[in-house]
Amino acid sequence: MINLQSKNMESNPTRLPNLSVASTIPREKAGPLLEVKDLNVAFVTYGGEVNAVQGVSFSLAQGETLAIVGESGCGKSVTARSLMRLLPKSSTKLKGGSIRYKGQELTTLSDREMRDIRGAEISMIFQDARSALNPTMTIGEQIMEGVIRHRKVSRKAARELAIEMLELVGIPSPATRLKQHLHQFSGGMRQRIMIAIAVVCQPSILIADEPTTALDVTIQAQIIELFQMLQRKTDVSIIIITHDLGVVAKLADRVNIMYAGKIVESGPVEDIFYRPQHPYTKGLLTSMPRLDRDRSEPLTPIPGTPPDLFSPPKGCPFAPRCNYAMEVCAAYEPKLIDVATEHTVACWLQDPRAQVLYQNA
Ligand code: SF4
Repeated sequence: MINLQSKNMESNPTRLPNLSVASTIPREKAGPLLEVKDLNVAFVTYGGEVNAVQGVSFSLAQGETLAIVGESGCGKSVTARSLMRLLPKSSTKLKGGSIRYKGQELTTLSDREMRDIRGAEISMIFQDARSALNPTMTIGEQIMEGVIRHRKVSRKAARELAIEMLELVGIPSPATRLKQHLHQFSGGMRQRIMIAIAVVCQPSILIADEPTTALDVTIQAQIIELFQMLQRKTDVSIIIITHDLGVVAKLADRVNIMYAGKIVESGPVEDIFYRPQHPYTKGLLTSMPRLDRDRSEPLTPIPGTPPDLFSPPKGCPFAPRCNYAMEVCAAYEPKLIDVATEHTVACWLQDPRAQVLYQNA
């Protein structure tokens, strides 16, 4: 059984830099920090539009960690990048929906206004630090750049903050290493540096897209501890995109399971691990790697492949791979319904209306 350890556990608490600079938008305890409603995003291709994210809705409270989980191509990274408006305009289209951060609608902000939000209020950490960071700039310059721009501090103050941030994320001899370049650090250290850059302005939301995937198991565990420590110290909210359920178990409060661009199950982490309702979630639990499990244990893959989003099936998109598929599943698409407190699932097995529809299918 998976160990859902307290997300506040930490082995090596470190002092938080005393940022005396104010956030441009005041922190509020009341109400959700982030509210996403009916988000629809399409890829624009020569063959037409492909609906990559459809009808995605969720909220995020201050200090909460939400995991978005699913196979490659399920829409989890597109969802995350939409929040930051980081998708290329030439090949993607926001077809509808709302993204409200502290009550402010982000989808209608100008590019300039969005640049003020990015890094200062919402930051992102990527899987590969080498492609996300600048190899020609020193580490110190890269950390200082954001804090000078967003928090309007002097170079001297920014340098002191950069040293404190490197110390915070566990880089030894930070004053010396500040002058070094990315290639002079190991993979785990590079990830720590990217985290330092992401949190130096003390954003309210940290979005981490597969932040541990490229790392070995020991370094993965250290990075997870670092997230736990940062959250305990700063109360930052985290959205973590991952296919590693061990990372989810250790970090998340809530989980959104995505399939074919939609959320098919959402709930508290305990419900998702111990009381999963959707056959896809159950399949993921046996098919995905977990930090707490012996990596030599064979995984049981979900048979088949996700649907072609150019021509999605009429009914439940998981039906061709589902051992429980019924006639109604091929005819009608299930909608998310409540199955417990804050636990929703889109599956006809859980929906009492299936019986009525079955007679019409
Ligand atoms: Fe399987 Fe039907 Fe549920 Fe889809 S709706 S997951 S096909 S049982």
